[in-house]
Amino acid sequence: MEWVDLRSDTVTRPTAAMREAMLGAEVGDDVYGEDPTVNALQRRLADELGFDAGLFVPSGTQSNLLALLAHCERGDEYLVGMDAHTYKFEGGGAAVLGSIQPQPIVHADDGTLPLARIEAAIKPVDPHFARTRLLALENTWHGRTLPLDYLVAAHDVARSHGLGLHLDGARLFNAAVACGVPAREIARHFDTVSICLSKGLGAPVGSVLVGSHALIDKARRWRKVTGGGWRQAGMLAAAGMHALDHHVTRLAQDHHRAEYLAGRLREVAGIDLLGQYTNMVFIDVPAERLRDLDVHLRAAGIRISIGYLPTLRLVTHLDVDDDGIERTATAFREFFARH
Ligand SMILES: *Cc1c(COP(=O)(O)O)cnc(C)c1O
Repeated sequence: MEWVDLRSDTVTRPTAAMREAMLGAEVGDDVYGEDPTVNALQRRLADELGFDAGLFVPSGTQSNLLALLAHCERGDEYLVGMDAHTYKFEGGGAAVLGSIQPQPIVHADDGTLPLARIEAAIKPVDPHFARTRLLALENTWHGRTLPLDYLVAAHDVARSHGLGLHLDGARLFNAAVACGVPAREIARHFDTVSICLSKGLGAPVGSVLVGSHALIDKARRWRKVTGGGWRQAGMLAAAGMHALDHHVTRLAQDHHRAEYLAGRLREVAGIDLLGQYTNMVFIDVPAERLRDLDVHLRAAGIRISIGYLPTLRLVTHLDVDDDGIERTATAFREFFARH
């Protein structure tokens, strides 16, 4: 029996067609800028999203880090969500490696950073303070899409204070598909955007940072400094190209499956459905049931991330089909009926 793995959309494995594309990739030395497939991927995303240039990097963490290092100098500050990946889940890289101070902002429930909180956090120009330089947003954030009119307003506030804007768009294409707009319509409010190819898009490795020539040149230098300069990376870029060709519009299926799963779980007594956003479903289950639930699901061939918190996140992706969703719904129903 194949596992139904709902822990994250990072668990996808390359399809046969993607592996085929990787095998046939033309390659060169990317540190010399000579890998044609890497160059094509960078060009393609820069053009599609409306930027001068792109930079292919091993991970979303590195892509965000390079963006922060490109925007900010030692002693500068960036404004970021208290629960943003960049702030919370990237080892504090900008502070560790860039001497860049984060100023966390408490999110509203919809994932936005309220504009009044942003404005209140911007420091006066004065030697007492770090220099506030950048606003970093995340879309989707815990599956939630940021409203398009919020992006316009956040952009205007940031610009009126002379701040740059970075988007952690690890799941930018999920946001675009869910909002029914081209990804460019979201990206255009930012100076740099980081996109993960290795999440719902299904590539094995890689993220792309897009921005102006000046910012991407700085990011490329920092990529080398942080050990991310790679050589014949075209085989990985080919997977990314294949993902952009074949796995973008299908993200809608992941969202539909998440919605369907949420509907099924809502009917189960014992489960508190907290919400469903794009490809993620959030539920609360009684904390004392977590261990038994994990055992039960694993026996049914289903993997979810179970920690010590009663809130569970189930994530749909390329490797989860209708049958897997059905099996999951059934396994949850059986568990709560029996116990
Ligand atoms: C996964 C993720 C990243 C980082 O990507 P890695 O490739 O795992 O380093 C950044 N931001 C968000 C919102 C993510 O979900």
